[in-house]
Amino acid sequence: METIQLNENVFIPQIGLGTWKLDDLEVAKKCVLAAIQSGYRHIDTAMGYGNEEAVGQAIKESGIPRDQIFVTTKLSNDFRGREETLQAFEDSLKRLQMDYVDLFLIHWPAPKKYRENYVELNNETYAAMEELYALGKIRALGVSNFMKHHLEELSVKIPVSVNQIEFHPYYADWQTIQYCQQHHIVIEGYSPLGRGQILSDPLILELASLYHKTPAQICLRYAIDNHIIPLPKSQTLERIKENLDIFDFSLKETDIERLRSLSSENGKIGSHPDFADF
Ligand code: NDP
Repeated sequence: METIQLNENVFIPQIGLGTWKLDDLEVAKKCVLAAIQSGYRHIDTAMGYGNEEAVGQAIKESGIPRDQIFVTTKLSNDFRGREETLQAFEDSLKRLQMDYVDLFLIHWPAPKKYRENYVELNNETYAAMEELYALGKIRALGVSNFMKHHLEELSVKIPVSVNQIEFHPYYADWQTIQYCQQHHIVIEGYSPLGRGQILSDPLILELASLYHKTPAQICLRYAIDNHIIPLPKSQTLERIKENLDIFDFSLKETDIERLRSLSSENGKIGSHPDFADF
């Protein structure tokens, strides 16, 4: 699988399995195992998904060496500041049964609980993540749901490697994407299939027929062709495989442009980072 370089020693595979909503641990384990057996080498989890234990167990049982699988987890909205971050991270490692993660993200920039002083708290939190990086417990640092202004507000010593944000043909925050690309921050696209709600769009269907691919594969290739790492979630074994079968074609520039023309503010499915009700 193709990779993208995040820092001196760290390479991230171009697609990852999403695991949000896989909260039944047996199902989560089965899906992660099936994904690894199908060739995925990148798994996206979070404290908030309640499945870190299953992800860790599946990776162990896969027999693939730990250093060949890229694992991301995220700091939940319940924790901020140095002490809480260090403790929450150690608890995550225990659940994952690992001694490091490849990528650790602040899940949301301004949770409701901390909205009053989120800038200061994000800076303390990120500094704690830098400590963990120095100890070799995190191989790359990042954020999620950070818009351009949140990134500008963040003070860092070790650069942000990744920003994980909503991205699919119906929605893109082009201002943030452009800012990240200018600052060498790799974008991961969450809900790359629009949570399955955009797959019967006429243009997506037209392109699927033209390229002899499925609508989901068109959406995933659209992310790759925009230099964005898609994180599709599926608990259906055939779809897990289907979603990986996107490396034998690419979209023509004119078709990428047509898909871009579908994106607008109205197409946002996830919560707004500054106004989320959590
Ligand atoms: P996706 O866009 O990945 O869509 C998932 C839905 O699409 C599921 O209902 C799935 O059904 C369906 N699906 C999957 N593959 C296919 C296919 N080939 N054909 C038809 N339908 C398909 O949505 P998510 O919101 O789950 O986003 C993906 C991942 O991104 C999450 O799991 C999580 O890891 C991450 N994420 C991060 C967020 C953040 O705040 N950082 C927020 C949201 C997501 P089924 O499972 O039944 O097969």
